[in-house]
Amino acid sequence: MSLDVLAIAAHPDDVEQTCGGTLIRMAEAGYKTGVLDLTAGDMGTRGTPEERIAESEAAGKHLRLQFRGNLRMPDARLENNIAARMTLAAKIRELQPRVVILPYWEGRHPDHYRCCELGYEACFLSGLEKLDPYTEPHRPFKILYSGLYTNIKPSFVVDISAQFERRMSALLSYTSQYGAGDAGSDLFPQEQEIRERLAAIARFYGNLIGVRYGEPFIVKEAMEIADIVALPVRSPASESTVCLSTKTFGCRKTLASSNPTSSRSPSSTPRIFLISLGKVICPCRRILTRGIVFSIFPR
Ligand SMILES: [Zn+2]
Repeated sequence: MSLDVLAIAAHPDDVEQTCGGTLIRMAEAGYKTGVLDLTAGDMGTRGTPEERIAESEAAGKHLRLQFRGNLRMPDARLENNIAARMTLAAKIRELQPRVVILPYWEGRHPDHYRCCELGYEACFLSGLEKLDPYTEPHRPFKILYSGLYTNIKPSFVVDISAQFERRMSALLSYTSQYGAGDAGSDLFPQEQEIRERLAAIARFYGNLIGVRYGEPFIVKEAMEIADIVALPVRSPASESTVCLSTKTFGCRKTLASSNPTSSRSPSSTPRIFLISLGKVICPCRRILTRGIVFSIFPR
């Protein structure tokens, strides 16, 4: 098999949140796409590995994938060792992707940044002729890093406005994770909550390029542009970023003082979009350990 795009992820349901819209869009453009999950999420509170893999195959149909595989490496204990690198390199030789999408190299979950490191090194190893005399060497031409789990300016954003709903359908195929149930309910939001959260993130990145929904990517190399007259995305960028707070729309005081529209009517919903999860410091000086940074867009 020779894929045009292969996304390598730590867990089933990662790509559905990070780059699934881009995979759908590439498939709709006629490219052969695939996803290789390294683990089956066997340390997850909900669902068995077998259920997670079955759900990922159902999600793969929504993503219009030509290939979906799972290497059954240990979840939450992912290691970048020689056995893992050789296993992944062999799979890359088999699938021969031109473009590989990896998670960004920093992140909250160790499996995510380890997947990035492991994926990068396996792509390199895969191109070495003497690695294995029985398979053809193959080194992907391009590696992209999906930036959704981090809070850095992307190298570029893909417009997924037309693919967003299909990506949601793919994610909701993981009924063990996003269906109703008590186990781990603090960790596993219900459908409406996850829909709003993902829409807010996609809306933020879409706004960076003037479209409804977007997915962010980072590349290590400079991007070549042949025609500067045809460059898309109007200057200057339209957003102003303000740190607000917490899991909900949180600190009303900060919200009101930062946004003139909400100071007149604090209970009305201002145009705010989530940027990232993680440790943030709110302008009200509260230090949050599980905060959310929002952006306010002027009307
Ligand atoms: Zn994950």
